[in-house]
Order: sequence, then C-alpha cells, then structure tokens
Amino acid sequence: MIAGRHALVTGGGSGVGREIALALAEADVAVTICGRTAEALEAVASEHPHIHAIPADITDPESVERLYSQAESERGPFDIVVANAGTATSAPAAKTKLSDWKKTLDVNLTGSFLTVQPALAGMAERKAGRIIFIASVAGLKGYGYVAPYVASKHGVVGLMRALATELAKTGVTVNAVCPGYVETEMLQESVARIVEKTGRTEEEARASLLAGNPQKKFIQPDEVASAVVWLCSKGAGSVNGQAVSISGGETW
Ligand code: NAP
Repeated sequence: MIAGRHALVTGGGSGVGREIALALAEADVAVTICGRTAEALEAVASEHPHIHAIPADITDPESVERLYSQAESERGPFDIVVANAGTATSAPAAKTKLSDWKKTLDVNLTGSFLTVQPALAGMAERKAGRIIFIASVAGLKGYGYVAPYVASKHGVVGLMRALATELAKTGVTVNAVCPGYVETEMLQESVARIVEKTGRTEEEARASLLAGNPQKKFIQPDEVASAVVWLCSKGAGSVNGQAVSISGGETW
C-alpha cells in the first residue's frame, strides 16, 4: 500500500514529472513537487489537493536542504523520492560547448545525486523507502548528437546501481525508469531543433526520432508514471537495481 506515504517528485511542474505527481496523488500519496518555476508548480498543485509545490533548484545543495526541511516538517519524511528533473541539448560532439556539457551533467547527474542524498540515512534507518531515477534509454545505449545527455544518463544508471547495492540490506529499493522519446515539451524542442538544423519537415523529424523504436510510437507520460507507481508498490519490493526500459523494445 502506498496510500499515506510522502513522495518528492523533482521537475513536477511539467511533462513526465507532472504526470508522475498526479498518478501518485491519485494513489493517495502526499506529493511534494519542486522545480525552479513557481507558477508551473502552482498550476500542477492546483490540479490535485495532495500535491504541494515548493520551488527549489536541484543543482544547489542549500536549496535542496531547504526543500527537505520545509516539506518534511509539514508532511513527514519522504518515503518515496523520484529524481525526475532533467535537461537536454543537442549538437555534434565536436561542437559541444563546455558550458552545455557542464550544465547537462550538473542537472541530470549531480542534481539527481543531490536530490536523493538527504533521504538515504533516514530511509535506511526506517528500513523502508523507494528511490526512483527517471533516466532514459540514453542511459542504456549511445545516441549521436547528444553526448552530454547520454553521458549524464549513463551516470544516473550507474548511480542507481551503486545505491541499490549499498542499500540492498536496508529494505530500501533503488531503481531507474528508462523511457524512449516521450510525448512532452522536451520532445517538441528536440523536433524543433532537428527541423531548424536539417531543414527536414516536422513529420520527417518525428519519424527520425522513432527510427530505433520497434513499435514506432512515442511513449506517453502516463506510461512512465505507471511504472513509477508500480515500483513504489509493495509487490515491487524485490525489484532493486533495475533499469526498466519503457521504449517499445528499443533497449533491454
Ligand atoms: P521537461 O518538461 O522539460 O521537464 C524537466 C523538468 O525539470 C522541468 O519541470 C524543469 O522545471 C525541471 N528542472 C530542470 N532543471 C532543474 C533544476 N536545476 N532544478 C529543479 N528542477 C529542474 O521534460 P520531461 O520530458 O518531462 O523530462 C523529465 C525527465 O524525463 C528528464 O529527466 C528527462 O531527461 C527524462 N526523459 C525524457 C524523455 C522525453 O522524450 N521527453 C525521454 C527519456 C527521458 P524548471 O525549468 O521550472 O526548473
């Protein structure tokens, strides 16, 4: 039973994070969402009474500390932490700017570590907890023109495996969900970049992103959310250290 638990979902103000927050709230979980844009967070919080919004920047340890302190004093320690916030840029590796490399690693990898680190000791002590990283199929295989993203997501999968091993005896599980291209704002931006850089039509750009997906369809945000809810359930208690691919069979 996950009803009554308290969950943190980073990047809950949009896309996949919003859908995860709503799915957990529907399962009667108290959900705290964070991100840097207060208005986006408030808009999602207004969709369900179980969702509270607290603005925070996951790349700033003090900001994350303030978030934990406020959320946990209001609704108890986090039982579930979903490190979902992320960012992506694209460019040929030879032309990738150091600033883009650093920013991507900072948000996707270091930010994911900073997100979960404050929860680890308490979860281990209480002998219960669920940590879920939203990685990507780009954490499992290589893709061109997104070197910082692929490197950061491989790092997230490695971080997940390290924590799953370290916490295995505590009753806490640590897993990653690895979606293929999900129909969100981030996907729209990728399509727009391809159109701009290659002169292809939007339809051609979308088809090129689906080239590696055997089912030839984009993943829906609620499919990612369903996997997260399942990983939080009692029945998934022996699922630990897994990178669950939600990709129509693109990776396994
Ligand atoms: P999105 O709509 O752009 O969501 C990213 C979220 O992260 C935003 O809400 C953003 O909020 C938040 N964020 C970014 N930097 C942050 C920071 N420094 N501190 C706190 N929050 C921050 O994209 P999405 O598609 O939902 O992506 C969610 C996750 O799924 C990401 O980890 C992404 O890599 C992964 N994923 C996406 C796809 C896809 O095709 N869309 C596929 C595989 C994996 P603010 O800007 O307000 O801070």
